[in-house]
Amino acid sequence: MNNTDLMRLRSKIVSDLASLEETTSATRTVIIESADVIPNYLQSEIDAAKDTTDIDNAVSVFDHCTARKQALKNALIRMDRGEFGICQSCGIEIGTARLQVAPGTNNCIHCQEEMEMRFPRAKSPSLITGSIRELGVA
Ligand SMILES: [Zn+2]
Repeated sequence: MNNTDLMRLRSKIVSDLASLEETTSATRTVIIESADVIPNYLQSEIDAAKDTTDIDNAVSVFDHCTARKQALKNALIRMDRGEFGICQSCGIEIGTARLQVAPGTNNCIHCQEEMEMRFPRAKSPSLITGSIRELGVA
């Protein structure tokens, strides 16, 4: 990857980080404010179910954005160390097109595919518990 592409990517990462920070801040507010709603025994079951779904959605968005922010921060660290764009699994150079689409990636497409086949993503309820604990809500 040449220096011009690298500078463009750094700028995109910084911009994406700012956008993700706004989103996590907004969802953090939704989650914290919603925490007061859960134990409301006067709500109908439908309202309570809707509130729970809204909270679950906010937690999912928060988790996704938090993970992306960390990946992008790590990408900036790798740039500073001169390690950006090198697959952390096999050591080959990651394609520029892949980095432009997914600048936070650690792996080349081949290693990523192999990893996803070995360890398919599982939805874990512990993510929700972890997020709420991290926010200090529960
Ligand atoms: Zn690789």
